[in-house]
Amino acid sequence: MRKTTSLFLSAAAHGAAVLAMLTASVGAHAQAWPTKTLTWIVPFAAGGPTDAMARDIADKVGKQIGQTIVIDNTAGAGGTIGAGKAAKAQPDGYTFLVGHMGYMGAGPALYKKLTYDPVKDFDAVFRFPDTPLVLLVPKSSPHKSAADLIAFAKKNPGKINFGNAGAGSTSHLVAALFENKAGIDTVSVPYKGAAPAMNDLIAGQVDAMFDQTNTALPQVQGGRVVAIGLTSSEPIAQFPNVAPLGAKTLPGFEAATWYGLYAPKGTPKEVITKLHQAYLKALSDKAWTQKMSDLGIHLLPEAQYAPEALAKHTAAEVAVWRKVAADAKISID
Ligand code: ASP
Repeated sequence: MRKTTSLFLSAAAHGAAVLAMLTASVGAHAQAWPTKTLTWIVPFAAGGPTDAMARDIADKVGKQIGQTIVIDNTAGAGGTIGAGKAAKAQPDGYTFLVGHMGYMGAGPALYKKLTYDPVKDFDAVFRFPDTPLVLLVPKSSPHKSAADLIAFAKKNPGKINFGNAGAGSTSHLVAALFENKAGIDTVSVPYKGAAPAMNDLIAGQVDAMFDQTNTALPQVQGGRVVAIGLTSSEPIAQFPNVAPLGAKTLPGFEAATWYGLYAPKGTPKEVITKLHQAYLKALSDKAWTQKMSDLGIHLLPEAQYAPEALAKHTAAEVAVWRKVAADAKISID
């Protein structure tokens, strides 16, 4: 009898201890996030514009939250492979996707089988600044202007090769819109990201490419490639003598890439709020935002960075791209 009682007592004491531990760990989890390294999936090769921007923002946000943010470059299929991986990740506040206009906007219109839904499978965290693109040709190119390139392509259908970051990437989409607007017929050469495409452009293996300003600028300034047009509506000081394509060559032509950070659906709301707050705090550093502006990156009004604004924007873009892709006959074979 005595023995049973003591056993019972000890079991009860044990239960209470376990309960206390559980309560403490749940409380600690909510308050202490992040307790370990975060991973942001960038679905392109390292060294490209998405990677460069993500690493820069991850560094600043990581300092604010007191944790390292590592970049996982899961590249391929225009970003859709990495996005699919992120959609299936644990929604525990430690894995995120760096998304952009391609696989998070145009993807559903272009890919018949997508392993994720940009709206239903993700919670929006915050939007990055936008980035316009630059039309680039190799140093050795005979095409000295966008008008030259278009005139040549008109006379020689299928002779101009455009390097891009994969089917449905922004470099592919913008080239397809350019082709449609100019009434030309070019060949798409997909890579696993803009960085390997840029290497081949520098080597003269492809004839042209649209790249985001942040990674195009050092190549142009280093004299390794030549910029012959901008997709922004206004000229950009860092690209002197390069005209917006929409000004004269292709009236009304304009494009910019939007980016955002996404979490797998079901990620704790307080994690999203903390990341958004950390990002806004980082953005209050004017020296940093000036550096982004110096790369042609376009800062947005603060309200547009909010999780709700990014969620709304994503849903709207999925609808917009269904129409744009159909009108411009952009498809993926
Ligand atoms: N954002 C680029 C694109 O879609 C790809 C990259 O960053 O590598 O063209």
